[in-house]
Amino acid sequence: MYLEIRDNVSRNKIEIFKEKIKEKGYRILEINDLGIIKIAVIGNNDKDFQILDLDEDKIVEKARVIDVPYRFSSRDFKKEDTVININGIKIGGNEFSLFAGPCSIENREMIIRIAEEVKKNGGKILRGGAFKPRTSPYDFQGLEEEGLIYMREACDKYGLLMCTEVMDTKNIENICKYADILQVGARNMQNFSLLKELGGIDKPILLKRGMSATIKEFLMAAEYLVAYGNSKIILCERGIRTFETMTRNTVDINGIAYIRKISHLPLIIDASHGTGVDVLVEPVTLAGIMAGVNGAMIEVHEKPQEALSDKEQTLNFIQFESLCKKIFKTFEFKKNI
Ligand code: PEP
Ligand code: MN
Repeated sequence: MYLEIRDNVSRNKIEIFKEKIKEKGYRILEINDLGIIKIAVIGNNDKDFQILDLDEDKIVEKARVIDVPYRFSSRDFKKEDTVININGIKIGGNEFSLFAGPCSIENREMIIRIAEEVKKNGGKILRGGAFKPRTSPYDFQGLEEEGLIYMREACDKYGLLMCTEVMDTKNIENICKYADILQVGARNMQNFSLLKELGGIDKPILLKRGMSATIKEFLMAAEYLVAYGNSKIILCERGIRTFETMTRNTVDINGIAYIRKISHLPLIIDASHGTGVDVLVEPVTLAGIMAGVNGAMIEVHEKPQEALSDKEQTLNFIQFESLCKKIFKTFEFKKNI
């Protein structure tokens, strides 16, 4: 349930009211949606919540029950696109956010070199794994903290935000010391213990769609983060598993258009993992932009053939530069139609 607050109610009255709701055991999320202050009442049995008894100052205009299960991720709660501001860099709404970088951080020089290329081509966020979810235990597992240190240095050098994956609750605190955005990978989208813990941190989460998750399950994973206290969420469509074997996954373009209709959260496309094929990254990323994404994630490496992970889908610098130009042109075109 959420409450719409009347116009011109003092901050003091709103805060007193919020405290009373919290005393009843509910969590609160306050937003401003198209000029209306809305207060989400988060918890079980919120439909039975006797709001009027607490509203002594009569500050509530309307109380609304949301019918969809992904309550506070939905446009039923918030009509306006959510824009996440991280150190002045905005993600969502009319901004296009380019997340790019290697699959894995391999050494200091390579991540610094790639960061330079990402910056030069209009990227705002450096991506790269230090803790890698690999299908085989014999494949490169990532540099762990050493990788985080190199990546932070590269981000600071070029003024980029740092986005890296967290696979385990035990690493959250340490990763938070370095990263600006914590990524939850496809394989962990329904790791509810991880989601609950990440609900308690004050950093944005890039939540990737599980490879066999429905749109509803995807949004319910986002809802876990909201329900446990973190509403700074960026969704990422990275392809789902279908019967097709020519590509690694199948990017759900329907899903992109659908999610943008039903959720206010920023959504990006990752056509690198979505296709698994370097030459498909460009057309599918551009298709995602036309379907409405707010950003894209691209894997790039100076010598993809030597990359320690995901070499088949990784772009070289020439391919990357050419794609970036087309990405920004396509986004402008889409905004104006
Ligand atoms: C990644 O982005 O590094 C990754 C492993 O992607 P996904 O979780 O989408 O497979
Ligand atoms: Mn990868």
